[in-house]
Amino acid sequence: MSDAITVLNAGSSSIKFSVFAVEDGELRMVFSGQAEGIFTRPRFLAKDQAGMVVEEKQWAEGEHLGHDGALDHLVGFLKEHTNDYKPIAIGHRVVHGGLEFTHPQRLNAAIVDRLEALVPLAPLHQPHNLSPIRLLFERVPDLPQVACFDTAFHAGQPELAQLFAIPQEITDSGVRRYGFHGLSYEYIASVLPQYDPEAAAGRTVVLHLGNGASMCAMKASHSVASTMGFTAVEGLPMGTRCGALDPGVVLYLIDQRGMDVRGVERLIYKESGLLGLSGISSDMRVLQESDDPRAAFAIDYYVYRISRELGSLAAALGGLDSIVFTAGIGENSDSVRERVCGHAAWLGVELDPQANAGGGPRISASGSNVAVWAIPTNEELMIARHTLNLVTGG
Ligand code: AMP
Repeated sequence: MSDAITVLNAGSSSIKFSVFAVEDGELRMVFSGQAEGIFTRPRFLAKDQAGMVVEEKQWAEGEHLGHDGALDHLVGFLKEHTNDYKPIAIGHRVVHGGLEFTHPQRLNAAIVDRLEALVPLAPLHQPHNLSPIRLLFERVPDLPQVACFDTAFHAGQPELAQLFAIPQEITDSGVRRYGFHGLSYEYIASVLPQYDPEAAAGRTVVLHLGNGASMCAMKASHSVASTMGFTAVEGLPMGTRCGALDPGVVLYLIDQRGMDVRGVERLIYKESGLLGLSGISSDMRVLQESDDPRAAFAIDYYVYRISRELGSLAAALGGLDSIVFTAGIGENSDSVRERVCGHAAWLGVELDPQANAGGGPRISASGSNVAVWAIPTNEELMIARHTLNLVTGG
């Protein structure tokens, strides 16, 4: 019987999960799925490693499962379908580790209390990430739980990259650039040597372009700068988040337009980005298929901001040896990759159009000064690896 690790990624309206079997020290995904719409119209879907549906269930409109109900359903599913495996641990994605947690952490009630104290730093994500942990302490008290943090990969950045130009007393209270998507960047850093050992040893910018989007400058596979900051709303425009915004705009909205904090929060997290620019959708596929000029403008803006940030991160690195595209848009949109690389010709980037249209992994021309790659990310596997290492002392 193989050991198994379950990975949970709990968000505001969904809980995503993956189950990995541990076979000869290697991790192999055996189930994955999610409970979504847990406060509106819950739906549970689980697939096996071949992508075959193992369980699908839809609840009635308006039936609230909430996090606890969804988790109980998931625990029931796991008990029924993972008899061939011995559960050894649960790994959680937790967005914020603050200054204290810069490595994956085995959890107990006292540590969860310390992670709760970070909720004000990530109010839209942290509470949902933490909510399954306490319930699982009750349901499966003997099963070790591990938290893996999206901020941790960036913790070693130089101070210059981490601080804001504000008085030190405020910096000391924790107001600094943390950077996010760290598990995705760490995964890319872990596999890049297999694709391109030179790139892994050199100066790389990784573009994590999904619903949330950010970019990370890595020197020899270590984060030295990132576009995300104190919160995950900074940097690139995203599906519904605005990205970089003059803080004076926030003051103006409150002072002159009478908006309250929750209204501004809604605006910058939920109503901006590709959705706000286009007025059509937050989804890149929808925008690419639209012939509305506002959709085209939103994509132009997206590519323009990425291109500017690429120049900024290349400056932080003192040059550029490679670029890696990843996440939903980065892995799948050859046209976004082509346009970003076209803007980056001045950095020595030359794309191979055929390789790009074919999805890579290497998509730069043979004579390009900068190697360009499209590599799928795998945050779940990264969490499973950390969890396995912590519980087996590896
Ligand atoms: P993620 O958050 O990583 O799942 O990425 C979601 C984003 O990837 C959405 O904006 C999708 O529209 C986008 N995406 C997924 N597949 C494609 C595709 N084939 N072409 C363009 N965008 C895509």
